[in-house]
Order: sequence, then C-alpha cells, then structure tokens
Amino acid sequence: MPDQLSPAELRALDRTHVWHPYGPMPGRQEPLVVESASGVRLRLAEPAHGRRELVDGMSSWWSAVHGYNHPVLNEAARGQLDRMSHVMFGGLTHEPAVRLATRLVEITPEPLQHVFLADSGSVSVEVAVKMCLQYWRSAGRPAKHRLLTWRGGYHGDTWQPMSVCDPEGGMHELWSGSLPRQIFADTPPDGFDAEPDEAYVRHLRELVATHADELAAVIVEPVVQGAGGMRFHSPAYLRVLREACDANDVLLVFDEIATGFGRTGQLFAAGHAGVSPDVMCLGKALTGGYLTLAATLCTSRVAEGISSGAVPVLAHGPTFMGNPLASAVACASVDLLLGQDWELEVKRIGTGLRQGLAEAADVPGVRDVRVLGAIGVVQLDHEVDMEAATHAAVREGVWLRPFRDLVYTMPPYVTGDDDVARICRAVCAAAREG
Ligand code: PMP
Repeated sequence: MPDQLSPAELRALDRTHVWHPYGPMPGRQEPLVVESASGVRLRLAEPAHGRRELVDGMSSWWSAVHGYNHPVLNEAARGQLDRMSHVMFGGLTHEPAVRLATRLVEITPEPLQHVFLADSGSVSVEVAVKMCLQYWRSAGRPAKHRLLTWRGGYHGDTWQPMSVCDPEGGMHELWSGSLPRQIFADTPPDGFDAEPDEAYVRHLRELVATHADELAAVIVEPVVQGAGGMRFHSPAYLRVLREACDANDVLLVFDEIATGFGRTGQLFAAGHAGVSPDVMCLGKALTGGYLTLAATLCTSRVAEGISSGAVPVLAHGPTFMGNPLASAVACASVDLLLGQDWELEVKRIGTGLRQGLAEAADVPGVRDVRVLGAIGVVQLDHEVDMEAATHAAVREGVWLRPFRDLVYTMPPYVTGDDDVARICRAVCAAAREG
C-alpha cells in the first residue's frame, strides 16, 4: 500500500474492507473522508458540495461536547501517554481510574457509590443488567431475571441491550425471536412539559406490579429517548417508575449514556425528576468524545447484595477495563465541563436552536419541531431520504446524520451563535430536501 492514499483511494478501500455502523459490505454509500477536526469543525480531505469544512451538528453522536482538538484534553492524553497508555486492571489499579471513579461518585446522585469502568456504552448496559440479575440471584430470587422498559428506547447493539431496544420496527427487529424476552410498556406520551397522563401512569404502575415476581429491573433512558426516535417525555414518569420499583422490589436503571453531562440542561437527566436510580450508565461525553470509555455506577445496596451471594464477585472483566488513557482524559473532560458555566452554554445553544428551527415548522412535510437543552429535532411525516438530506446539510457547511423520519442536532457546547444559526439553516434545508 502506498504511504499516501488519495481520498478516492481511501474511499475505494473503505468500501471494500471496512464496516460502518449499520452498513452493508461492500459499502454502498460514499463516506466523506475527514482529514482532521478542530473546535467545532471537521476538515475534509477534499471538498464535498463545495465545502471543505463542516460545522459538526452531531458532536460525534453526543460525545464531543468540548469540540475537537481541545488543548486541555490533548494535554491530559499526552501527559498520560508518557506515563502509561494501558495496563491490565486485574490485581492492579492506577490514579486515573481511581480519580475518575471518585469524581463520578461525587457528581452523580448520592446513593451511587461504586463504579465499573467499561469500554463502551453497550457494555456498560450489559454490566448494568448483569448487576441487577446477579443481585436477585444473590438474594435467593433467581426468578427475578427479566427487564421492563418502555417502547421506543435504545440501549446499544450487544445482546442484552438489544433486548430492551424497541422491539417493533426498531433497529434490532431482525433478532426479535432470539433475544431474551423482556416486558415492554407503551412509549411515554410526548412532551417534556406535558402534564403527566394519568392513564399512562396507571399503565406503568400496573405493569411493574403485575410482573414484580419476575422483574429484576426497569431500565429506561430518562427524559430523552435518543436513537429510538428522539422523543422527549415528562420527568414525572421517572418519579412514577421510582415509586413503582420501590413498592414492588424492583431495581431501577437509568441509561444516561446520551443524556449525561449536561445535554438536556441538567448535569444528568435524572435531575429533572429529582430521583436517583439504583444503577446508572454513562458513556459518550464521558471522555469528551476522545476515547472509548463508559461507566456503570451502582448503590451500596446493589454492590453489597452481589458481594454477599453464593458467587460473591461481579463476573465481568474486559481487557481494556479502566483504561488509564481514557480515564485521564475523562477526568480532564469532567473537570473542564464543571469548571465552566456549562448550564449557560447549553441554555444559549437551546435558545439559538429554538429561534433557528422555528422556520422549520412551515416546511411542508414537517410534523414537529422540538428543542430540549442543547438538542434540536425536526420530525417529518415521512422517512427522510438520508442522502438528499445529508447533502443539503453539507451544502450549508454542516455535518448532520438524519435517520428515519428525523433531522436532528446536538452541537458541541462550544458552538458559537453564528454556527448554531448555520446548523439550524442546515437542519431546515435537510428537512426541506430530504
Ligand atoms: N444507550 C444509549 C442511550 C445510547 O444512545 C447508546 C449509543 N447510541 C448506547 C446505549 C450504546 O453506546 P455505545 O454505542 O457506546 O455502545
């Protein structure tokens, strides 16, 4: 292979050899080749639709909250690289992991005291499920092994997480016959500010109570259902779940992988409801999108329950558990976030999105426009033509990744007002042309 590959050569080899998310082999799409990324801009190896630079409207799927090539995160990575990039976690520990775990315990709801440092969001959900199932096994109640979730959710692409993703028309429908059979409540009624729907509240309460004997846990994405449909719902339902779980001896898991670290306007979306879960999953923005790392936090009740069982260990230990490089960058990213007025930035972006996306409401085929925190969503009344919509955004100088009936954005918190306005123009253009 030559030292230098042209963008066309890269694309050809990519199509032949490299899987992409939810992609066929060989690849059918023409991915854009990114040469570098800095601040909120992706620099392409060659112009596309007349643009060489694109404002990132996606934060690389919720993760790059501080933008790219950030001096503080670079320094954290470089400093740690010179000390040690990785070392096994069995029988050994190190400062970056200890600092990170302690910091996460400090900033998450108080009952969460123990941290499993996993290597991806999906694995952190697997670990959360294992914790819950093992808790009940240890308590002598192995029949409590199923999960309840609401329809329309998304929790990852490995086996247990797939079983709690939306089972109908969702991303994992192909596997519905083989996955563990879980219990599904209806999708929560739409609207973050909507009054809680009494019938839905009854539905949740009844379902938890009816299945209490076989339920290990309820697992949900709090306030925002992300990849399953970018829906917002009332925090009141989280309080209902907390009460129903307490009343019926069921654990509660919040998957904050997408919503964590300020995205919805609270540091964690559970904060909107003022409730805390027994187990919480974090990922994505944990390292500011630099490196792959996720975390599963649990209460002392859960940890002690597992540790007092017949098998008194949590049998999970990935090779890259607690990776020092990722942990050091995560510590720096958390400090960077909390060392600034992130709430103000998220509010500022939310205001910009509300203003800029207002005109989308008049675009033919647009069914709904909604904004929460630094998330903007335009929902169409038809499946979006992904290619046409993406090209429309690129022509505006913005990177978006529309899917299903949605054109949406969650920009880095460092996105300036002009760039937020540009992102909104791109979302409107994508909605019009997709
Ligand atoms: N849970 C939620 C809510 C997510 O949004 C995602 C990622 N889209 C995951 C879990 C899975 O995380 P990962 O892609 O890092 O495995």
